[in-house]
Amino acid sequence: MNVADNTNPLLDFSGPTRFDAIRVEHVPPAIDQLIAAARAAIEDVAADSRPATWDNVAEPLAEPLDRLDRAWGVVRHLNAVASTPEWRETYHASLPRITAFHTDLAQNLRLFHRYREIKASPSFIGLEAAKRRAVANELRDFRLGGAELPAREKARLKAVDEELAELSARFDDNVLDATNDWALYVADRSELAGVPDTVLAQARAAAEADGDAGWKLTLHMPCYLPVQSYADNRALRATLHRAYATRASDLGASPAWDNGPVIRRLLELRHEAALLLGYAHFAEVSLVPKMATSVDEVLGFLRDLVRRARPYALRDYAELQGFARTELGLADLAPWDLAYASEKLKAKRFAFSEQEVRRYFPEHKVLAGLFHVAQTLYGISIRESRAPTWQDDVRFFDVNDASGTLIGQFYLDNYARPGKQGGAWQDDAVNRRRAGAHLQHPVAFLICDLSASTDGHPATFTHDEVITLFHEFGHGLHQLLTRVEVAGVSGIQGVEWDAVELPSQFMENFCWEWSVLEQMTAHVDTGAPLPRAMFDRMLAAKNFQSGLATIRYLEFGLFDMLLHSAHDPRGEAPQAVLDAVRREVAVAPRASYDRFMHSFAHIFAGGYAAGFYSYQWAEVLSADAYSAFEEAGVLSPAAGAKFRDEVLARGGSRGAMESFVAFRGRTPQLDALLRHNGMATPL
Ligand SMILES: [Zn+2]
Repeated sequence: MNVADNTNPLLDFSGPTRFDAIRVEHVPPAIDQLIAAARAAIEDVAADSRPATWDNVAEPLAEPLDRLDRAWGVVRHLNAVASTPEWRETYHASLPRITAFHTDLAQNLRLFHRYREIKASPSFIGLEAAKRRAVANELRDFRLGGAELPAREKARLKAVDEELAELSARFDDNVLDATNDWALYVADRSELAGVPDTVLAQARAAAEADGDAGWKLTLHMPCYLPVQSYADNRALRATLHRAYATRASDLGASPAWDNGPVIRRLLELRHEAALLLGYAHFAEVSLVPKMATSVDEVLGFLRDLVRRARPYALRDYAELQGFARTELGLADLAPWDLAYASEKLKAKRFAFSEQEVRRYFPEHKVLAGLFHVAQTLYGISIRESRAPTWQDDVRFFDVNDASGTLIGQFYLDNYARPGKQGGAWQDDAVNRRRAGAHLQHPVAFLICDLSASTDGHPATFTHDEVITLFHEFGHGLHQLLTRVEVAGVSGIQGVEWDAVELPSQFMENFCWEWSVLEQMTAHVDTGAPLPRAMFDRMLAAKNFQSGLATIRYLEFGLFDMLLHSAHDPRGEAPQAVLDAVRREVAVAPRASYDRFMHSFAHIFAGGYAAGFYSYQWAEVLSADAYSAFEEAGVLSPAAGAKFRDEVLARGGSRGAMESFVAFRGRTPQLDALLRHNGMATPL
């Protein structure tokens, strides 16, 4: 095992992760060794007979737990962005051991008592606030992990946790496999009328790579979305719509990828785990570490927004129907007409199209503009740097503070590709932490599924894609600009889940500011910045159909919360919950074959279970926080410094509400959210 020490790159924590050297065969020995080291450290601390203190309990555990987290984070990351059969097998093979380790840790009664002793000791009050918070979080997590349960229940909870982890991983695999499996080769160019040239060029290149003379259409976002929005060929839109909406379902290409049984089992086990811990249902457990205090509070919050947004959604839909009938000759609006009709109406009403706007957003300009915002607000500088990566076009950046000191680094993996999960996300690669004299700086993974460049043309992004990039970068800033030095509460760690989207949604606002866009645009052919008149039309169109979009999010949020609270997992099918929610709130009809739930990874494979409402919840916070910038000047370094000091830098070291109030001087109000979405005056 000691030999592996020097040669296993997964065990090398001395510098940037050695993505160029890490192979699947490094995973089992590295994970074995790190788990063994962590278990030994835990046993030492638990068996220690001295009075428990921060220094003899939390301190000795920080390093071994951090190393295991980092190494496993690399494995999880590679499985998500560069999935191969070998990586997937390795990931699945190690996952039960990782899950078992964490369950054992959370159920360790002796260690739980050591933390309780710290909390009860006279020296506790003298600890810095971040450490007190970390101890409180530990105690909470021991309770939620079942530390106080009798042995039999503990063992059952552990088995449940392991199966849940495996089911979540399989859920993702099924969506990825079903997405990658599907392709449509189109031989006749006329079938693709309306589809933007950039998309066609990629479809052409993809077909060529497969030895086909036509165009290859896929279900990856950079292809699927433009086909739905622009293809004049209604039958083509319908074909792709059905393929997309039935991914990983009973109606999909392969029963092996059907997530239906996975979902039912997940719900059963989550419910069982909640009962074991003494809660009524999974939603109640899920809310313990969140800002929201009860299921009723969340449902009330969502339904209040439904009440406000639904009239706008009904108006939006009626407009769209009328337009489709008179201008497009579509007697009724099918689900595969929605994006298309919407884009046409938008183009007509506001005299621009996303594809036209996109010509002004080449990647280098967008990145420079994004960095300019962050540098101006927070007094940092961002410079491209070098580190080994998992893919040639992945980039790596240093973030320095005003004095030139390195404070963090991030990877940027922008483009959609086969073997990479869809969607966009931020993940922590390394967390900020002090170990004696050494300060470990944070590192973030920023992952998007944007359109890549083709044939030597620079990549250009739609305005929506630019917003996605700003969003993920906002998460990155939360991770990188932390000043907390205590493991578990620095960066995004320990932040209440329903507040996590605050920094990310906050960043999106800058994509709607002229002073920002003016500097961040250059037409790909002429180099001219975005014309002011075009920006004004974009702004006028900003809230175009925001009612429909808001209602859709609220539908997901309600479905998720009701599924995890009011639904009996052994009773009716989960689809019945979704159908009921749709009857309550939805405005646009869905296709009968629509199996959206089967690819709803946020709640079945991600961390959003009984937490999807977080997007709206945090948007109240982010919109209200941004209104302080609207008052001070959107690129005000003073407002930026305060936002960094009171929100970004604090991480999980104190409650999100406390951070918000410290920044805003009062509790959050709904006004800014309604105003930003064009719903300030009731219809
Ligand atoms: Zn986010």
